Amino acid sequence: MRIGAIEAGGTKFVCGIGNEKGEIAERISFPTEQPEPTLRQAVDFFRDKGVEAIGVGSFGPLDIDPASPTYGYVTTTPKPGWSGYSFLGALREAFDVPFGWDTDVNAAALGEATWGAAKGLDSCVYYTIGTGVGVGVYAEGKLVHGLVHPEGGHVLTRRHAKDDFAGCCPYHGDCLEGMAAGPAIEKRWGKKGSELPSDHPAWEIEAFYIGQALAGTILLLSPKKVILGGGVMHQKQLFPLIHAEVKKNLNGYVNSKTVLEQIEDYIVPPGLGDNAGLAGSLALGLAALQRG
Ligand code: ADP
Ligand code: ZN
Repeated sequence: MRIGAIEAGGTKFVCGIGNEKGEIAERISFPTEQPEPTLRQAVDFFRDKGVEAIGVGSFGPLDIDPASPTYGYVTTTPKPGWSGYSFLGALREAFDVPFGWDTDVNAAALGEATWGAAKGLDSCVYYTIGTGVGVGVYAEGKLVHGLVHPEGGHVLTRRHAKDDFAGCCPYHGDCLEGMAAGPAIEKRWGKKGSELPSDHPAWEIEAFYIGQALAGTILLLSPKKVILGGGVMHQKQLFPLIHAEVKKNLNGYVNSKTVLEQIEDYIVPPGLGDNAGLAGSLALGLAALQRG
């Protein structure tokens, strides 16, 4: 089985060919430019590769409602040229195969549920903490779309007592993304997160905001696994700090051994590592093929 996968990020596109086991045989990566030249490179890559389906996990916001006239469009992104672009339409013109289409984070959640840290479970939540914060939700064996799609990166936060950073989300200022994404760390401390030592006070503050959001997510959705990916989560010292924050916030209220005694195995890095995004898109393609 040969399935195409596109991980469409705001900074770079990754295209690959994989199989039903989540194995990726071949891949390329190129910068995300204006939509037409970017999609042309993706189409060139898949041409003559004999793929049976293609899965696309994209930066958003997106129209993922199959009943909508603008299904397959990128909707309101500030990224120049992409707002109102018919992403899926451009691919459909080139290939007559089933397509999977969802947010990058929903794709990653599905990939993790299919082959990764949430394998065999019927629910998980996937957070990426990177240039932005995104949240993918898999519940009762399905990706959650709802009215638009979950936008959990923009939930409001309660401020850390020692933090006077105003927040940098252009919409909300001090929402989760505005306080905890990579650019927020860089603006607050005047240095990139990757340049801060692992015992820097930045990480306690970072864990405070992430732990707050995760406690809310666990209360609201009761996921069976919480997966934290994205560039900022390469700081592995964050995990024990986040575990402690979540436990402090829940304060014993969620009566599950998983949370009370095994939180190290509950809030975890992606089982698919840095492949989570592309493998997720592959999982979307596989699901589209199975739907026919
Ligand atoms: P994107 O979100 O654009 O897909 P990433 O998930 O790699 O890409 O996130 C990029 C962000 O993560 C940048 O703001 C960068 O500063 C931050 N970042 C990348 N690596 C690290 C690291 N090792 N430690 C802390 N922050 C990092
Ligand atoms: Zn916001």
